[in-house]
Amino acid sequence: MAAKLIVLDWDHLGMHVSSLKHCDKDKDVIFMCETQENATYVKHHKKKLIFLFSAMRHFASELKAEGYQVDYVAYEESANTQALCSEITRAVRRHNAASVQITFPGEYRILEQLKALEKELLVPLEILEDERFLCSAKDFQAWAKGRNTFLMASFYQMMRKKYKILVSDSLKPEGGKWSFDAENRKFPTGRMMAPEPFTQKKDSVVEDVTKLVEKYFQSHFGKSENFHFAVTRAQALKALDHFIEYRLAKFGDYQDAMIEGEPWMYHSHLSFYINAGLLHPLECIRRVEHAYHDGDIPLNAAEGFIRQLLGWREYVRGIYWHKMPSYKKENFFDAKRPLPDFFWSGEVKMNCLSQCINETKQNAYAHHIQRLMVLGNYCLLTGVDPDQVNEWYLIVYADAFEWVELPNVSGMILFADGGLLATKPYASGGAYINKMSNYCKNCSYKVSVKNGPDACPFNYLYWDFLDRHKEK
Ligand code: FAD
Ligand code: SF4
Repeated sequence: MAAKLIVLDWDHLGMHVSSLKHCDKDKDVIFMCETQENATYVKHHKKKLIFLFSAMRHFASELKAEGYQVDYVAYEESANTQALCSEITRAVRRHNAASVQITFPGEYRILEQLKALEKELLVPLEILEDERFLCSAKDFQAWAKGRNTFLMASFYQMMRKKYKILVSDSLKPEGGKWSFDAENRKFPTGRMMAPEPFTQKKDSVVEDVTKLVEKYFQSHFGKSENFHFAVTRAQALKALDHFIEYRLAKFGDYQDAMIEGEPWMYHSHLSFYINAGLLHPLECIRRVEHAYHDGDIPLNAAEGFIRQLLGWREYVRGIYWHKMPSYKKENFFDAKRPLPDFFWSGEVKMNCLSQCINETKQNAYAHHIQRLMVLGNYCLLTGVDPDQVNEWYLIVYADAFEWVELPNVSGMILFADGGLLATKPYASGGAYINKMSNYCKNCSYKVSVKNGPDACPFNYLYWDFLDRHKEK
């Protein structure tokens, strides 16, 4: 008889996951399963599925090698019921488990399923705090209590002081300012070639999973070729080293810049690994802070990166759990238009959209300003239905889980929450895109023209948006 069944979902792939901390190697069984439910509740990008299933298989093998008892149900096993809760029920019976433990899920949908399962299971089910986050849902609620607006800047200051990151002994910010964002808006002049991203050679696990994905999920968005992500913690640590060595120094300067043919720029590309559990956010933050103290990188780079992880990432997760389930229904501008087909095909004359959509299709990645100021801006200005926009973003990025995707889409790009997360809508005409990218040079439209068939659509869409919503 197993004492405990410890369930790991597909984004619980690290030893720092709380349910693994008290695992008794002799008595407890770790349970993992690949399900159609996870793979298809939205039709995830093929590379996202290859990444998550490969990382799961590797983590299960590593746990076994460490002497843990692991029960792994692979996708093609004939008895697999293809849903998390029914698989937990089967595993409880198989191992005659006395109780079940799982770390807090990344999506409200799964939390609801687990609560329903708890009532049906004949043994206790315990949902543990997810200690991979630096601000618990409870601590966020305490911070949010009594506030009318939830300013990210004040949340971020609180987090810097709490974790003593880039602060003096008297908790004053390094460099005299909490944020160096104003310095992080440079656009490169001349021909810029960003460093090559970290690439990991495919192993046999990735090859097998790629075949599986091509067999069962052919109709899903995106391309499976040229998969190069890390799929183990050791590989993800190399990706972190690579970022610190080759890109971090210029991360701040070019954080908002977009260049045709350069999808990776100076960003870290660590979100997949952090969200799936291969890396802990605090280890990334500390490494960057050390690089700054060692004199390897400027303060605007270190602070800029730390603000994203310690500030934005924790903040959006806090908002998600604080406001769900009602947050998903918010639609401040009453937006109803369907998502255009070109978001799937990439066939669109507007060069900025074409670049960002086709890079997303290829890489399951686009950096923040592409997601926000090109793709998001278009959805905001044209009034696309938030449900359809949320579904698209959840599908197309390898780092997308609802706790982080939904507040970024409904709060940050669509202003669907009426200004809880963003102080004003991130709406702009073509001038912003022209300032921060070289996309306009190769576009069929003219960014300086405001009206008529040659005009950049962002220009008249911007004024139309303001006109439609002038009361609000
Ligand atoms: P970097 O630019 O190197 O930033 C460093 C880290 O900071 C990231 O790895 C990420 O963990 C964190 N971070 C930065 N910005 C944010 C943010 N706004 N919210 C949360 N974390 C942040 N991020 C996701 O992880 N999953 C998503 O599904 C997701 N959807 C998004 C949808 C929209 C519309 C927008 C505007 C942003 C979204 N983001 C999402 C945030 C951000 O765009 C990505 O985290 C980032 O592009 C990932 O690439 P990177 O690792 O190279 O990030
Ligand atoms: Fe985009 Fe307008 Fe520039 Fe074309 S001209 S790339 S549509 S911003």
